[in-house]
Amino acid sequence: MAEIKLEHITKRFGDVVAVDDVNLEIHDQEFVVFVGPSGCGKTTTLRAIAGLEAPDEGDIFIDGNRVNTLSPADRDIAFVFQFYALYPHLTVYDNIAFPLKAVKAPKSEIQERVKEVTAILQIQAMLDRKPSHLSGGEMQRVALGRAMVRRPKAFLMDEPMSNLDAKLRVDMRTELKRLQHRLGATTIFVTHDQVEAMSMADRIVIMHQGSLQQIGTPQEVYNQPQTVFVAQFMGSPSMNLINGKVQAQTALNPNVIGGGEPALHLNHTDVWIELSAEQISRIGQSDEIIFGVRPEHIVISKEPMEQGCKASVHLVEALGSVNIIDIFLGENPETGDLVLLKARTHPAFKPDVGQSVWFDFDAKQVRLFEPSDRTSHC
Ligand code: ATP
Repeated sequence: MAEIKLEHITKRFGDVVAVDDVNLEIHDQEFVVFVGPSGCGKTTTLRAIAGLEAPDEGDIFIDGNRVNTLSPADRDIAFVFQFYALYPHLTVYDNIAFPLKAVKAPKSEIQERVKEVTAILQIQAMLDRKPSHLSGGEMQRVALGRAMVRRPKAFLMDEPMSNLDAKLRVDMRTELKRLQHRLGATTIFVTHDQVEAMSMADRIVIMHQGSLQQIGTPQEVYNQPQTVFVAQFMGSPSMNLINGKVQAQTALNPNVIGGGEPALHLNHTDVWIELSAEQISRIGQSDEIIFGVRPEHIVISKEPMEQGCKASVHLVEALGSVNIIDIFLGENPETGDLVLLKARTHPAFKPDVGQSVWFDFDAKQVRLFEPSDRTSHC
């Protein structure tokens, strides 16, 4: 059993608030990934859980016990670092056996446990090798083996794959996730790579400037981002975000008698988006809105669409399995900034730059954010 709970954790380094009032509950056997840009406080939070950093405020509980005053060794947690930190003069066997030898475990028990973890990690054939004769992926597995051999309550991993090449990283992701499942060990994994976070996590914790932005399953944080930061951070290309105003359409069309529902007008464009009654009720009185839609939710065609808007193609990026099309909607006359929408399309869809296209999207997939608090409404 290993449940980890953080209550109002704050850590400062001089004027820098590295971790700012973080509250978090990690369940037994859960694989939680901390993700966020460099300097957002991921490592400091992890180090506080491990006991390597004392929080200035707040409490840390492991299995219901407050551990603030416990030394790292007494927390029964294994830390796997970005750098493998293997002993170069020791063989793979001795590197893995090291933590058990340090607590003077009986030799037979050491042999049995090293055999068990090396079988799980499939590194039995290299027990006599020194680290200099191992590949990056093998070293990573030895480092994991050394952490596993103690059978800790939980694993804390700080960018453990950042030194591996891209292909190996992808392989190790699957391997690590399978291993965690098999061991049933609560794991916190730190990365700044959102794809890694999406592919491995049971739940993702997104951090920004020391604070938690959102906690949820990969699907939740991707499909229902609660803040503009999360919307931008998760997904590549990131969500399209365009400022707009909710206005009665009659205000712009004085000749229309009666007047329709308010609609969202995207600034510096002639694009209007009709909002549902539910969306309008959630927005309340706010008329300044940031409109968001993911590139894969935009439908684009060279032929006129009944409901769609007309625009022109600004750029075509052919990425092999998909194309990313930048659609030009308008230009801010004061700043010269272009208002563009990125659409993800089938690779066979290759319009010319400058060509007219029509686009549409499912209103249910649209996210609306309020600029003042930068949180999501719908
Ligand atoms: P990265 O992805 O680059 O490792 P991170 O999200 O893990 O970043 P932290 O290492 O936790 O971020 O750092 C959070 C903030 O605290 C940063 O501004 C960092 O410069 C600062 N910081 C971290 N450790 C120290 C320290 N020992 N002394 C002073 N400032 C520190």
